[in-house]
Amino acid sequence: MKRIALLGATGSIGSAALTLARAHPDRIRLVSLAARSNDAALIRAAEEFHVRRIALVDPEAARRARASSWRGEVLEGEKALVTLAEEDGVDVVVNAVVGGIGLHPTVAALTRGKRVALANKESVVLAGELLTAIARRSGGVLMPVDSEHSGVFQCLQGRPVADVRRVTLTASGGPFLRRDPKTILDATPEEVLRHPTWSMGERITVDCATLINKGFEVIEARWLFGLTPEQVDVVIHPQSIVHAFVEFVDGSVVAQLSMPDMRLPLLYALSDPERWESDLPRLPIPDLTALSFERPDPARCLGLTLARRALEAGGTAPAVLNAADEEAVRLFLGRKIRFGDLMPLVEEVLSAHRPGTGPLTLDGIVESDAWARGRLHEAAAPMTRG
Ligand code: NAD
Ligand code: MG
Repeated sequence: MKRIALLGATGSIGSAALTLARAHPDRIRLVSLAARSNDAALIRAAEEFHVRRIALVDPEAARRARASSWRGEVLEGEKALVTLAEEDGVDVVVNAVVGGIGLHPTVAALTRGKRVALANKESVVLAGELLTAIARRSGGVLMPVDSEHSGVFQCLQGRPVADVRRVTLTASGGPFLRRDPKTILDATPEEVLRHPTWSMGERITVDCATLINKGFEVIEARWLFGLTPEQVDVVIHPQSIVHAFVEFVDGSVVAQLSMPDMRLPLLYALSDPERWESDLPRLPIPDLTALSFERPDPARCLGLTLARRALEAGGTAPAVLNAADEEAVRLFLGRKIRFGDLMPLVEEVLSAHRPGTGPLTLDGIVESDAWARGRLHEAAAPMTRG
């Protein structure tokens, strides 16, 4: 039985986790749940799974939860995520919150030697180097939930990185794969949020359309698997059936395939080294008659290019990249800037960033994150509408 703290329980990955808890009551026990502000959904889940402790980051939502008829403990504020993540009675923290705010609970859980089923890729983008060092010291484990990284992990089967020549992550290409980049500068949030193969939260869906999500995933793969940036490749695969390829030094390539359904990588992040029987949708292998692969078109890949640049600069540059993108996406979803402004704005902030010279620290990351958010809003001010 895994005792789980589920952070981000009301989101897309969070509800996938609830579905798994429903399907595997003999293996999964939810101990605590957290979300930002949806107290009604969080309490519904707490009632269904007999959870006695919840956290709401938004104090107003926490107040509503306390005033409700539900009789459990309600924590509030960002610190509450950390409190739930380090609790003694928790074996696994499923970190499914969106944004850089997910870093602190990841650090807390890893420091306590826990397993972190990590959907919050931002944690690794911000602090991959620090997290891998913490895990080495504490015996904590970072289990990828991102489908491509789960794919790599499953292909590796624990083999040493010295056996690996190259890892290739697949990208669907998003909703605008076949559109002339010039025609999507004014794409609306509705168009951008219509992803062809995956159903996900808003931020990551926008990030798929700019391809910066794949850039974040290159950074994530570099740290999770100890690869050099040059060893991590990206290929466009519109069907989202193959999630990753691992090429070994002898020339053999192993790939991981499954339906585009996040419940599977999430289940594996919990079950490894076991495999648990599931009734998730099966891959109809004889029907896979048209799997296609192509090189990303450099003309529409600024997001990916910026991530590689940030990875090369190292230090706090990836944190700056993430924070600038988070704010830019917020402005875009609020219809304050155009789709075509997103990556140029992020590029402007990244170019203005001067990485510090000392060793990378959590405080340094938090500071750079705040700087990048402010700088992004300055850069966007002349173009924001209303
Ligand atoms: P979502 O927007 O659907 O859900 C986000 C969750 O985080 C919600 O429960 C929300 O309450 C919580 N949250 C948001 N802001 C918060 C804050 N400030 N403090 C605390 N909690 C907060 O997002 P999602 O699609 O489920 O994505 C979650 C994470 O998983 C992201 O890091 C994303 O990149 C990653 N991921 C998602 C998918 C997917 O298929 N959805 C795939 C791969 C990786
Ligand atoms: Mg992914």
